[in-house]
Amino acid sequence: MEYSAPPNVLMELLIVPDKILMGPGPSNCPKRVLEALKNPVLGHLHPECLKIMDDIKVGMQYIFQTKNPATLCVSASGHAGMEATLCNLLEDGDILLVGVTGHWGNRAADMGRRYGADVRVVEAKLGESLSFERIEEALVVHKPSVFFITQGDSSTGVWQPLEGLGQLCHKYNCLLVVDTVASLGGVPVFMDKWEIDAIYTGSQKVLGAPPGITPMSFSQRALDRVNNRNSKVKVYYWDINLLGDYWGCFGRPRIYHHTISSTLLYGLREALAMVCEEGIPVTIQRHMDASYRLQEGLKKMGLKMFAERPQDRLPCVNTIHVPEGVDWLKVAQHAMKHFKVEISGGLGPTAGKVFRIGLMGENATTERVDMVLYVLKESIQSTSPNFS
Ligand code: PMP
Repeated sequence: MEYSAPPNVLMELLIVPDKILMGPGPSNCPKRVLEALKNPVLGHLHPECLKIMDDIKVGMQYIFQTKNPATLCVSASGHAGMEATLCNLLEDGDILLVGVTGHWGNRAADMGRRYGADVRVVEAKLGESLSFERIEEALVVHKPSVFFITQGDSSTGVWQPLEGLGQLCHKYNCLLVVDTVASLGGVPVFMDKWEIDAIYTGSQKVLGAPPGITPMSFSQRALDRVNNRNSKVKVYYWDINLLGDYWGCFGRPRIYHHTISSTLLYGLREALAMVCEEGIPVTIQRHMDASYRLQEGLKKMGLKMFAERPQDRLPCVNTIHVPEGVDWLKVAQHAMKHFKVEISGGLGPTAGKVFRIGLMGENATTERVDMVLYVLKESIQSTSPNFS
């Protein structure tokens, strides 16, 4: 048998441009994180690898503000957190209530249906968070076993308040699942105090690690629900008991579940170390300050935030109305071509309507805010001459 020829493209040098990532994510990885990625690959059960997993566990317990032993990572991007929490907590016919504040609620509803749930929806006015009154009404009407909500919806730039929501859900015997992919580290999260039952985040946003590994945590209430299922968790890869045994969460011997990327563990460990060194309250304040500065600058340019009520605005992903007569795509392309700066357009319900500017991780600084304001202004003026 003759082999076909190897592809010519792979004979060329790999060249990766250095861009400033100020869209909704990923954000830039700090140098220290990139350096960590160069370490040699380890076996997934080598003691040094297990020690790094333990370091990540305590780091995430701190950042989620939880004592849950079932705090670990799934080996895939942020979507995996959504898949894993829903897949473990839902059985055929269970009622899943989804609070929709943008694209990510719709995505969770889609996943819930795939796992056999009877999905109901309570939808916020576009650009606003959901009031607890509306959520409570929906809990009474639909009697769900799980309520899903996104703390920071990166499509609309909406920040959903959570304090007291777990208690409200528990009053109706419902578990609370929260997506913090685009919010953790940029706004407060208190998993235990707020009685959140399952939570996950993205490695590649505020934390500044590469994508592909997703921290999450399950409360005892959530684990009890899983352990009282009538049917097996439908996806082996997401099964919290199997994952938890690999991550050493339940005091049982570690068992191989999958080959974790030790490389991604190094990156995440260093990213978490940086947040721990800064201290989570300082990290959050830095993100808040950066967003206020951005909002002030945008106002001076005559631009309007998409989330009208200031308390609804997520500091990590800022959504801005595209002004009349401005072509958002031309602006984004200009910013990338001339400044190597990523400014993004909308997604889902905001497609074509907004710019999205991410201020996450090492990009949440005064210097980066001033730079992105300049780039946005110059890019709008260059591509839309009528804009003054
Ligand atoms: N949830 C939210 C709020 C997000 O912003 C994103 C990513 N933009 C995701 C989930 C999905 O994450 P990933 O793209 O890493 O799978």
